Amino acid sequence: MITKIRHLMIVLGDQLDESATIFDNFDPLQDIVFMAEVLEESTHVWSSKQRTAVFLSAMRHFAAHLRTQMNWQVDYTQLDDVANTHTLAGELARAVSRYQPDQLIITAPGDWRVLQSLRQQASALNLVLKIHDDKHFFTTIRQFSAHAQGRKQLRLEYFYRELRHTTGILMTEDKGIYKPTGGQWNFDADNRESFGKLGPSHLPKPSRFIPDEITQSVIKVVNTVLAHHPGTVSNTAEGFGWPVTRTQALFALQTFISERLPLFGQYEDAMWAGEAWLYHSHLSSALNLKLINPREVLAAAEAAYHRGDAPIEAVEGFVRQILGWREYVRGIYWTKMPEYLELNTYNAHAALPSFYWTGDTSMNCLSEAIKQTLKHGYAHHIQRLMVTGLYSLLVGVDPKQVHAWYLAVYVDAVEWVELPNTLGMSQFADGGIMASKPYIASGKYIQRMSNYCHTCPFDPAQRVGSTACPFTTLYWDYLIQHQDSLSKNARMGMQLKNLARLSPEQQQAITVQANQHRQMIN
Ligand code: FAD
Ligand code: SF4
Repeated sequence: MITKIRHLMIVLGDQLDESATIFDNFDPLQDIVFMAEVLEESTHVWSSKQRTAVFLSAMRHFAAHLRTQMNWQVDYTQLDDVANTHTLAGELARAVSRYQPDQLIITAPGDWRVLQSLRQQASALNLVLKIHDDKHFFTTIRQFSAHAQGRKQLRLEYFYRELRHTTGILMTEDKGIYKPTGGQWNFDADNRESFGKLGPSHLPKPSRFIPDEITQSVIKVVNTVLAHHPGTVSNTAEGFGWPVTRTQALFALQTFISERLPLFGQYEDAMWAGEAWLYHSHLSSALNLKLINPREVLAAAEAAYHRGDAPIEAVEGFVRQILGWREYVRGIYWTKMPEYLELNTYNAHAALPSFYWTGDTSMNCLSEAIKQTLKHGYAHHIQRLMVTGLYSLLVGVDPKQVHAWYLAVYVDAVEWVELPNTLGMSQFADGGIMASKPYIASGKYIQRMSNYCHTCPFDPAQRVGSTACPFTTLYWDYLIQHQDSLSKNARMGMQLKNLARLSPEQQQAITVQANQHRQMIN
């Protein structure tokens, strides 16, 4: 064992990338990889069992890979190690005292809080912390800042088109000029279908991976140490099936491309009771843990288009999510933190309804989306945005509490991607930095995009009365409450025009019912 080393390479739970530049000059005779499972990361928000299990299992598999395939020394603290201090700073201090490194090296963390903590700890230990750019992404934060410079408003579309140009992804040359493949930048309008009355047919099976010995040991620890944490996890493919190695992630990518990508675009926004997986890729956790790279994911999607295996609407829709949204939200996060976390444009202060931790509510859409989330650590984008996110926005929940929930329950939750999506896109708490208008709708949107309303005691067409859908009541109440500020937004014109058609008495009845509903929550 080495006792005085050159570099201690810090690898965090979402940095499981063997091709990261921190390893470029790794010398096994002088350097050691440091990894630690600490309670702090599962308790700073009340992390669900699925989420913690994904992180710990992927970390243990990565450490095992470095040890056995690369023959590198990995200093690894497990969650149940007796001497574990349970903070990253504490574990780093212990490792530094063991190895006396000359320098600490890390890939830029995805989380502002973690970066600050590591900087402080390095300074307290009197050590240089060398931070490498995260080459996993297509862009750097400096590039995003340059794009944002001088713009009155940030909008995904412009950033996305810039990236299509610079990467050449889905671009076709025509007489020396590069144009978007398929003749359009955006096929969003073709990507909003529901499953209709009959529902989805012949859904492909999701790629789920039966827990191996390492995952089983993680599940045991999680169910012991974090027994009171939300959700469930168990040793079956139904109880835990996420990819936790690069090989598994590549297999999941392959089956998505061949089995689900062709219908991904068409049914991107659709929901169906009891069907969690639909035509989505379920690759977000593998991407965010860095088990796979977005370049290989998009290359596979583009190749499917060129082979004629998937239509342009699907492939462009998928590329937009990864090349567009994923890079864009990261840019927003890192250019706006730490102030971004404190934004609360509408002064929303209600408590998060307690049923977000159980799914026990008679509102069927919420019950379905939350129970599925607690079981799998997964819900697709529209479930997050237009069911759980919409309801908390309309109720007026404190955006920080909403943020803590999303960061806790999803297997793909890492703050750089979760926070702008939650606080900005879904809660509009940033006043429009992220989105051009609040994503609001009545229960009729959910009715159109799913079958949730069929078995719900409420009626999405009713604004008031005993069977009124709470989403519908709260939607109109939101417009009433915020009409002054919303009237400054041209994109809200149609919704406000519809509000103006309601008489003062009708509006009054909506407000009374919305307040009654808010009082009944929790
Ligand atoms: P697919 O539908 O198959 O999409 C493909 C990929 O595109 C995803 O894997 C993901 O990497 C990327 N992507 C899609 N939408 C977005 C988006 N809006 N922002 C960034 N990347 C996107 N995504 C996370 O990765 N982590 C989060 O913590 C997270 N929190 C969210 C919170 C809220 C309130 C909302 C509305 C969205 C959030 N998203 C988050 C974005 C999106 O919902 C998930 O990426 C997606 O549902 C993951 O499922 P999938 O892999 O099947 O995605
Ligand atoms: Fe949700 Fe309203 Fe539909 Fe019930 S009626 S499932 S609460 S949208």
